[in-house]
Amino acid sequence: MKVFQNNIFPFGSYVAINLFGLVLSRRPLSKEERNHEYIHTLQQRELLWIGFYLWYLIEWLVRLIQSFNFSTFKFSAKRAYYTISFEREAYLHQNNLDYRHHRPFWAWRKHLKK
Ligand SMILES: [Zn+2]
Repeated sequence: MKVFQNNIFPFGSYVAINLFGLVLSRRPLSKEERNHEYIHTLQQRELLWIGFYLWYLIEWLVRLIQSFNFSTFKFSAKRAYYTISFEREAYLHQNNLDYRHHRPFWAWRKHLKK
């Protein structure tokens, strides 16, 4: 996994984005953040990259709909992001730097029903 630091992308409050195993970041990443991105690289390989991005987008849309708050009449893009199964796995295990060595195949599936 390669990390390319730059001042432009990703936009907004995001620190890094993993595109086909290449990580673009706006600042140096901590060991835990690099581990987070490496977990995404493993997920991408399992779904042959395109499958990962398709699933990610569809699940984000489903989670966005689920995030709708009827009292404020608003969606929460941030909540949708944090509830995607890929992100749940990566955030849950990013502090375990050894996780990549014993991670079960398709481990992200365990985080689908939450
Ligand atoms: Zn992530």
